[in-house]
Amino acid sequence: MTSLPDTPPPKRLGLVIDLDTCVGCHSCVISCKEWNTSGYPAPLTDENPYGPGQSGAFLNRVHSFEAKAPDGNSRTVYFPKSCLHCEDAPCVTVCPTGASHKRTDDGIVLVDEEKCMGCGLCAWACPYGAREMDASEGVMKKCTLCIDRIYNHALAPEDRQPACVASCPASARHFGDLADPDSAVSALVRERGGYDLMPEQGCRPTNKYLPPRSRPAAGSAPAEQALPNAPGGFLGWLDRVLSD
Ligand code: SF4
Ligand code: SF4
Repeated sequence: MTSLPDTPPPKRLGLVIDLDTCVGCHSCVISCKEWNTSGYPAPLTDENPYGPGQSGAFLNRVHSFEAKAPDGNSRTVYFPKSCLHCEDAPCVTVCPTGASHKRTDDGIVLVDEEKCMGCGLCAWACPYGAREMDASEGVMKKCTLCIDRIYNHALAPEDRQPACVASCPASARHFGDLADPDSAVSALVRERGGYDLMPEQGCRPTNKYLPPRSRPAAGSAPAEQALPNAPGGFLGWLDRVLSD
């Protein structure tokens, strides 16, 4: 089994995802696929992209839900999901080979593919379904926060961010250091009531979600408050859906 860092990493790099502005276009899915796991048919599936039984590793996926607000109005909410780079990552501690690990300097959770034997234990341990077995390579894959972009000094500073963040046309994805209270992502979490996904799992995810805001009924004054988180709000409901 593999150990987590003895002391909390000084940085906690992660994503803040705005469920209010995500339009479900899948640009983040495609750009992630293209950058991280693309093969010959990129950015399509790895196996049988044009035939039946398509399959392949997608490190970021977008789910769609029809949610009903307390005022009775319903709306479609798009919910992007990838690895949340948990502080207490069970995918790391179950790994028998040390392939899954959490970096001591920035908290990113990675898989060393040279050490991975494809046993799938980490996928069973992850409560978020964030791991993807690459069947053709026989190794587990997951979001790396595009570590080969964010530290790549050959790229322009504005391009040193995950591919999904760079491509999002709705600016619904934000990248930064959630351990720094003065970072833009920490300010967003404070101002918008950023939320841990399924906190009852005790994984302490780094990534945060910003809840959808309620929309004014036709003809009424604009409302700015968020849909309540729990227990009856959208995120409480989403927790229950994902836990089933
Ligand atoms: Fe591990 Fe899943 Fe948490 Fe990512 S979301 S760190 S794969 S437990
Ligand atoms: Fe949502 Fe942005 Fe992803 Fe499109 S690219 S699905 S808007 S998060």
